[in-house]
Amino acid sequence: MKEFAPPPPRADGRVNLVGLSRDDLEAEVARAGLERFRARQLWHWIYHRGATDFAVMSTLAKGVRETLANLYVIDRPTAVKDLKSEDGTRKWLARMPDGQEIETVHIPEEDRGTLCVSSQVGCTLTCRFCHTGTQRLVRNLDATEIVGQVMLARDHLDEWPAPPDGRMLSNIVMMGMGEPLFNYANVAKALKIVMDGEGIAISKRRITLSTSGVVPMMKQCGAELGVNLAVSLHAVNDELRDRIVPLNRKYPIKELMQACRDYPGLSNARRITFEYVMLKGVNDSLADARELVRLLRGVPAKINLIPFNYWPGAPFECSTDEQITKFADFVNNAGYASPVRTPRGRDILAACGQLKSESTKPTAQARIAALEAHKALQAEYAAQVAEKEAGLAATGTL
Ligand code: SAH
Ligand code: SF4
Repeated sequence: MKEFAPPPPRADGRVNLVGLSRDDLEAEVARAGLERFRARQLWHWIYHRGATDFAVMSTLAKGVRETLANLYVIDRPTAVKDLKSEDGTRKWLARMPDGQEIETVHIPEEDRGTLCVSSQVGCTLTCRFCHTGTQRLVRNLDATEIVGQVMLARDHLDEWPAPPDGRMLSNIVMMGMGEPLFNYANVAKALKIVMDGEGIAISKRRITLSTSGVVPMMKQCGAELGVNLAVSLHAVNDELRDRIVPLNRKYPIKELMQACRDYPGLSNARRITFEYVMLKGVNDSLADARELVRLLRGVPAKINLIPFNYWPGAPFECSTDEQITKFADFVNNAGYASPVRTPRGRDILAACGQLKSESTKPTAQARIAALEAHKALQAEYAAQVAEKEAGLAATGTL
């Protein structure tokens, strides 16, 4: 895997103001020889009004606007593709100045509109069911590029300034490409800008960060940002999770669950969402459901069952509707809300786990190897399930 450095400065030497913290913006304003209060005016124009050109900033004198335009730009990534699903989901392929590309997805619902934001180009992790995990090129996005995705979406949704109620873009999930807690500093900087009440103003209650389980960063995330946490669990024993979410080898389930219990600000009103992708014959038995309920005991939790979204070459199939319903019923009866996530934007490869900006076809050899590995995994799993279910039946639990 090749790692890339963050993008180089612009050729014309001008600095992009998007993604600077308030302190950094004040420092830039001082560098330009302007009064400190100009930073606040700029903040309003950039993040409340969505200005991309200093010329429209009518509260600034002409000379000030010219000084700013000589030194700075207000840029977003370029939307090189704008795809619309038949269900209204929209996906933008966003190109950064160094040519790297990421995807950002908008999911409109009746009472809200959610933007699924990427934190990295590709992902250094290799969860077996995730398309992003097969992408070769990886680099962290900087705060400019993370905030830039929100601004790009607002541009396309024509929401500057956004109405306080009934916004098309009301919620954010850090569930796009990449592992946000492997790029925490940039994600934190970006989310603080997004949450700022004098700008984009999306509250922490409307932001959810999803992690595959980067245990050492979870506490800081909760304490510093206070956003909702989603944890990609997907398996209830280390043996399987080691294989399908390889980060588990570093931070096994027991440590992960302890970090969840320690997540700051948890209560019954503010629960952790456990994501669980439904993989046919791999993790979808009732014995798994039962173990899931046992694992979550004592953690304020919701369970989000995600039907597996297929992508070309994927080594899994989605569980049957019947099995998903059985699984969901079991978990519901145990007292956990466990909605099944309706896949959105599958026709434009915009659903969970389908994002991948670089189109490479798996070789025939890689496909065969993946299929063999999958078959072996399924056979082994079937044997384990039979054994567990026989045991449970004997004790009258199932
Ligand atoms: N890297 C972070 C966030 C991005 S993925 C994480 O892993 O949590 C967002 C969610 O989609 C995760 O729960 C992820 O496991 C899930 N996902 C990945 N591939 C999927 C697929 N093909 N079908 C359904 N969900 C998938
Ligand atoms: Fe990375 Fe998340 Fe995909 Fe795993 S599921 S490969 S952590 S983006």
